[in-house]
This record gives sequence, structure tokens and C-alpha cells, in this order.
Amino acid sequence: MKVLLVEDEEAIARPLATLLRAEGWAIETAATAARARELVSEQAYDAALIDLGLPDGSGYEICRAVRAAGDAAVIILTARSDEDSVVRALEEGADDYVAKPFRARELVSRLRAVLRRRGTKQFYACGTLVVDARSAQVTVSGTPVALTAQEYRLLLLLIAQPGRVWERGQLLQTLWDEGGAFVEDNTLTVTVKRLREKLGGEGGHIVTVRGIGYRWEEKS
Ligand code: CA
Repeated sequence: MKVLLVEDEEAIARPLATLLRAEGWAIETAATAARARELVSEQAYDAALIDLGLPDGSGYEICRAVRAAGDAAVIILTARSDEDSVVRALEEGADDYVAKPFRARELVSRLRAVLRRRGTKQFYACGTLVVDARSAQVTVSGTPVALTAQEYRLLLLLIAQPGRVWERGQLLQTLWDEGGAFVEDNTLTVTVKRLREKLGGEGGHIVTVRGIGYRWEEKS
């Protein structure tokens, strides 16, 4: 498991990184927003721990970058435990927050809880639709559905987090922009349309969120 730790206070970052490494996780640390952005653009992480107050920027911005780059679990570390900061952190896509000062052990257990919640789930069922992520097989009423790689990845993203609203930009970046290649916005529309068609009656689970993007609705 790869974890990004963004924290400018060495007195916090160093012991925390040591503890996380002892858990068997691979840790990359960044003490500035600039370095964090660089790391996020270079590689994918399973989880990110992000301090809100950075010398050259805000943790919110890093949270957005992590969210746009992939599906990492995000925990915000903050000295500001006021309601507004917390609400905003969650709105920016954080899964949880931990108020400073915190015990490193507490943070590790919160991280474990978030990862458990997000799940390493490999099997999704919705109506007559079944997605088996181990074999990358999709069936509707027991009949295999042939999807392109992009259609499959889109389906997996949506079904793995029912109700989550994915912005078009997030989906484009997550699904197509890995090599930095420019993809036309229309490609996403076309892919969603084809995926819905292929899923037949279950295609209705993909709900268009006007002016924003898409979400997976469990009941259609
Ligand atoms: Ca700080």
C-alpha cells in the first residue's frame, strides 16, 4: 500500500512516517504543496494524509488534486477543528479528518477504518447486474456483457461508490488522461451512452447530474 503524507511540521511528519512504515506501508512525504502536487502527478496512491496548513498553499488544493488523480482514501490533518473547515474538507472529497494534536496510533486506526469502509470489495451486484472485479467480468441476468476497457473502468468507478457524484473532469482525468493525452469531453458522453446501452435495463443506474457529471443510483 502506498501512502502520501503531506505535512510541513517535521515533528509530526517524521514519527508518523516511521509508524506508517512499521505498518508495512510505503510512505512518500511532502513538506510543501508544490512537492505534493508533483508526487500526485507522478504516481498513484492508495491513501493520502494531508495537513491543511502548508507553507505555500492549502491542503484543500492537494485534496482536490489527489481526488482528480485517482481513488486514494484521503484523511485531512488539521489544527482547525471548527465546523467550517471540517465541512469543507469533506466537501473537497476527504473521507475523514483528524484534529491536531492527535496520537499517531489513532491516525493509523482511522486510516485502517477508512480503507475498510472504502473496501477492497471485488464483487458488486445491483439488480440483475453483477460485476466481478477479480475476473473483470460483467453479467446482466447471467449473460456476459462485453465492455471496452474504458467502459469497464467507468462502470467499476461508478458502482464502487454509489451516490458519489463524479465530475466530468474527474472522470476524464481518471479514465483517460493518465498519459497526459488530451481527450475530448464528448468521449465521456459517448462512453456513458454506450455503457448504458450495453447494460440494458440496468443502464438506468447511471444517472446524469446536470451540469456536473454522473453518479450511480442503486435503484433505477
Ligand atoms: Ca502545517
